[in-house]
Order: sequence, then structure tokens, then C-alpha cells
Amino acid sequence: MSNELVSVNPTTGREIARYKTHSDKQIETALRRSADTFEEWRKMTFAQRATILKNIAKEIRKEKDTLVRLATAEMGKPLAQGHYEVEKCAKTLEFYAKEGAKFLKDEVIKTDARKSYVSYQPLGAVLAIMPWNFPYWQVFRAFAPTVMAGNVMILKHASNVSGCALAIERIILKGGAPKGLLQTLLIPSSRVDALIDDDRIAAVTLTGSTQAGKKVAAAAGRNLKKAVLELGGSDPYVILADADMDKALEIAVRGRLVNSGQSCIAAKRFVVHKAVRKEFEQRFTAAMQAATYGDPTNEQNRIGPMARVDLRDELHDQVLRSTAKGAKLLCGGFVPDMPGAFYPPTVLTNVKKGMPAYDEELFGPVAAIIEAKDDAHALQIANDTVYGLGGGIISRNRAKAEKMAATELQAGNCFVNDFVHSDPLLPFGGIKQSGYGRELGSYGIREFVNIKTVYVK
Ligand code: NAP
Repeated sequence: MSNELVSVNPTTGREIARYKTHSDKQIETALRRSADTFEEWRKMTFAQRATILKNIAKEIRKEKDTLVRLATAEMGKPLAQGHYEVEKCAKTLEFYAKEGAKFLKDEVIKTDARKSYVSYQPLGAVLAIMPWNFPYWQVFRAFAPTVMAGNVMILKHASNVSGCALAIERIILKGGAPKGLLQTLLIPSSRVDALIDDDRIAAVTLTGSTQAGKKVAAAAGRNLKKAVLELGGSDPYVILADADMDKALEIAVRGRLVNSGQSCIAAKRFVVHKAVRKEFEQRFTAAMQAATYGDPTNEQNRIGPMARVDLRDELHDQVLRSTAKGAKLLCGGFVPDMPGAFYPPTVLTNVKKGMPAYDEELFGPVAAIIEAKDDAHALQIANDTVYGLGGGIISRNRAKAEKMAATELQAGNCFVNDFVHSDPLLPFGGIKQSGYGRELGSYGIREFVNIKTVYVK
């Protein structure tokens, strides 16, 4: 087994850096430090923890440019999107610094006791296994509520963004956090099981593919440890016959191309009412073709490369297997003759069940159009997936769309006349094979706590 993790720039295909993986001895030191820090951190007041979270937010803002350029180099994110991501991390730290104490306030419940209440107590060290697609956001989205609640964190980041993983650890220390509050372990995924087995890991949170989720859930289950799983998605966008087409197109293009198409909650399947399918198809294809791809440091480009060549090749294979089964290619669908991991915006129509574009997650700039004969049929197609992360309904009839989103769409995050996005104020998570548990909002901070009943006679 290699004892190095390699970062490759997906824009150029060139190696950026090699990172030596941590030895068993270094992991042991980290776990010990984590346990010691937990004893100190859990006794601190919410106000003390909040001060450190706010200081980390300040450090993030001070180093915004460096952080953004590092992510662009390691995983190809267009610069403007990197700025947005980093700012969102700072805002989320500030949100939990402000609201954490309120979310975790003791809850008095009148019983026959002199006094009885619920007290939210931290669990210990939470292992965070994170993906490369939003290399800062995914980590801070989990970190802010978890540590505000009094836990500490061990980070196992994706193997292609070790530079970002180390930068996160450094920034948190600069913000005045104790050394064991967040420690990055540079290890391949093959060494995760042993960590989950360790008694000093209290719980685990994974953001990643459904495949990895099943492995991590099995390891957590074997150890009876709490797990939160934020997994893949194949978000459907239902475009009803009365949709405002300009708005639908804006939502569709933005929702599909966010992060060069590599977002769990990107719009992936467009389920379009037959009355407007032709118009949507033509205008959507034109808009996708107009989106430029290329060097992510050039602000003119809307789309950067995909994060790795193997991921690009996998996506291209899904496109080829779909067209082989009868999907019609309207644009894109080829591997450009240039270095790096680029893939053009691609639109497939006539997509049917049994094709990868219908059944699988398309984690890149490829859109699938599926025609529906009426609203009920559209909902049936939208829900005909193993995933249940997000989904949208686009219609001028807001009341009808809201009812469909609230009661019929099978997903954790259902939006009307907008593309699905996360907001620190609102809970975020999935159902079915998109995982379980919630991040963000008041629900996120209550995932890794002992909901303790205290009864005083
Ligand atoms: P991935 O291959 O599952 O990797 C995610 C993380 O899990 C990485 O740190 C990876 O480490 C680790 N990992 C992989 N296999 C593992 C195993 N068997 N045991 C323990 N850890 C394992 O996913 P990705 O390609 O980085 O990210 C894309 C996927 O994440 C997509 O499916 C996307 O939808 C999903 N995602 C979900 C959300 C959400 O909030 N629901 C957000 C973003 C992304 P290595 O890199 O070392 O393999």
C-alpha cells in the first residue's frame, strides 16, 4: 500500500504535492490528544466556545484568497464559487456561535419529580469523513455544530484534497482552538474501519457516495456508534406545463452546473411535462452550450474541470451507456482534446428507466431530460429513484407546487421555484439511499449529543 496521498491539479493533469500518510503511532497520538481535549472542551461554556468559533471565522476570512486558490488547484473549483464557499463556512461558524446555546438549552419538563429536564451533553470525538467537492464547506458544516455542542473532531478528508485538509486544521488552530479540537489524519479510506472500531471515537459523520456510506454505516453499526450519512443524490426537477419558462431555464442551468456539476444536490433529472418538453429542451440545450468551460482561474469560465480524470471517464461512460440504450444526445458528450479532466455541458433527452442517466447519479455537467404525460406521471418519475436528497417543482401555481413538494416528493430538501441549496438555518439531509440524519439548523447540532434525562426527586 502506498504511504503517500497525491494531489493532482485537474486543470493541467500535473502533480502538485505528495503528502506522507500518518503512521499508526501518529494516529495513536492524535486519538489520545483528542480524548484529552474533549475533557477540557466539554467543560467550557457556550460563550467560551462561541468566541473560538467566531475567531476561526475571522481567520478564514483573512486567508480567503489562499484557501480558494488551494481548492482550485486541488479540485478545480472556479474561483468565484470558491469565494462563495469559504464565506459560507465563516457565516456558519458565526451562526452556531450565536444560536448554539439556544438550541442546546436545558428543556424543563414537568413531572412528579421536584425537577426534571432534558440536558444535551456532548459524546466525545466525532470522526468526520469528507468529500472533495466542497472541500471547506462540507467540513465546516459538520464541524461548527459538532464542536459548539462540546464534541471534538478527527478529520479524514478525501485523498485528493490533503492540502485543503491541512489548511483547515491550521486555520482552526490560528483561531485559538486547542490542538485536539480538530485533527486531520492523512489516511486512505482502507484505514477508516480501524478508526471507527477504536473506543476513543464516539460517533461518525460521512459525506460522500452511497457506496462509502454503506461501508461506514456497517462499521458504525458493528460498534453501535451513532452515524450521520450525507450521501449521493439524483435530484429531480419537475417542470409543470404552466412553469415560467425563463425562470425554469435559469434554475435548471444554475442547478445543473453548480460546482461544475459535482454537487450532491445538483439538478440531475429534468422531468418535463409533455406540453412544454420541446421548448424546454431547445432553450435548455442552447443555454448549456453557451456555458463556457476551461481554466477555473479565468473568471470568464463558468465550469472548471471535473476533480479527477477517473471521475470524468466514469461520467463519460454513463453517457455512452445511456446513448447505447436509446438516449438522444443534444449537446456535449465527448472528451475534449485538452489536458486535465474537462467535460463539456451535456444534455441527454429521451431518457428512460434502465439507462444510467435515469437510474444512476450523474456527478458532473450532464443533464437528463425525461418527458412526463401529466403531473401524476411526473411525480411518479421523480420518485422513481433509490435516492432522496433534494428535488424541485417549477410552476406558476405556487399552491399546487407547494403541496406536491411538501407531501408527494420523496426527498429531504424540496424546493418550489428555486434550485435546491443549503442554508445554515434549515436542516439538510436525505432519505432512502441518500442517507440519514440531518446537518445544519437546530437539528444538526442535536445529532451528536446525549439527550440526557435528569430527574431530581
Ligand atoms: P466518496 O468516494 O464516497 O468519498 C467520500 C469520502 O469517503 C472520502 O474521504 C473517501 O476517502 C471516503 N471513503 C470512500 N470509501 C470509503 C470506505 N469504504 N470507507 C471509509 N471511507 C471511505 O465520494 P466522493 O467521490 O468524494 O464524493 C462524491 C459523492 O459524495 C457523490 O455521491 C455526492 O453526491 C456525495 N455528496 C453528498 C453530499 C451530501 O450532503 N449528501 C455532499 C457532497 C457530496 P478517499 O478519498 O480516501 O477514498
